[in-house]
Amino acid sequence: MSHAKFLTRCLQLANYAKGRTSPNPMVGAVIVYNGKIIGEGYHHKAGDPHAEVMAIESVKDPSLLVSSTLYCSLEPCAHYGKTPPCSLLITDKQIPKVVIGCSDTHELVNGQGVKHLQSHGVEVLFSSDPIPFRKLNQVFFCNKERNRPFVTIKWAQSFDGYIDRIRKINENASLISSPLAAIKSHQIRSEVDGILISAKTLNWDRPSLSTRNYNGTNPRPIILVNNTLPDSSALDHLSVPPVFIGNVSELEGDKIICDPYTIEKWLPELLNYGIHHVLVEGGGQVIQSFVDSGLVDQWHRFTSINSINEGVTAPKFDAPLTMNTLGTDRYERG
Ligand SMILES: [Zn+2]
Repeated sequence: MSHAKFLTRCLQLANYAKGRTSPNPMVGAVIVYNGKIIGEGYHHKAGDPHAEVMAIESVKDPSLLVSSTLYCSLEPCAHYGKTPPCSLLITDKQIPKVVIGCSDTHELVNGQGVKHLQSHGVEVLFSSDPIPFRKLNQVFFCNKERNRPFVTIKWAQSFDGYIDRIRKINENASLISSPLAAIKSHQIRSEVDGILISAKTLNWDRPSLSTRNYNGTNPRPIILVNNTLPDSSALDHLSVPPVFIGNVSELEGDKIICDPYTIEKWLPELLNYGIHHVLVEGGGQVIQSFVDSGLVDQWHRFTSINSINEGVTAPKFDAPLTMNTLGTDRYERG
């Protein structure tokens, strides 16, 4: 019987909790007896039982566990947190074989789960392809391994490579992309914890930074203050109170006081505000500075069929293309 099939089911199960497990990873588990799934479960949210516990408890006839295989998308934990360690539960239940999607690089697990299982005679196998399992929890792994939020950049540009026309401060921003792209943009927003823009972009565009065109929680605005202070009237438009970054001691509210130009210094501090995944939306120079610092983990680019002939140049970003169309726009991401 193919391990891949049951591991894929673990991925599906884990995905049911997408967006709800932070700061924990998404995890799914299934228990297979004689080629058939007899139990399955996933981690619903932080503080709730882990996937392995849910799967083991769902088995109707626990006497089958001693002859079953447990599949899980992530290495079972080995530490006492809000719940006892899953690797201990597996050995208590005498489950003889465990197949794992990928290792947990969290400092409290990091091979300890596997070590416990093997030292108790459990046969442990790993997926031949850990990539989908790493990708499932790419935000979690980035946070743990690089000690900073996962960074996504997103922008819309005209066919001839501009993100905005030349305009005066009170004129509305150009609508570069199609309505479908706007919906997609808000879906992308719904998957992050924070949206970063410069104070200059805030003052010019007066955005709400909400997910109003899509179902989801509004992310926390993060306002990068370099040489322009945010206008209080523009701040009033935001749907959620922001976090300020820069030489901002005089501003009221949550803030990270730092040199705004050294991104790698202040970026890790966003983790202290529960921002595990940040979307950088603009302006173009801010996006470009993330690209130039090598701090981009994921990107989305919408390209209109229309040209605007002159304006603010779009970020320069070389990456392998995955091309789609969305409405009348070209949509690339990676
Ligand atoms: Zn666990």
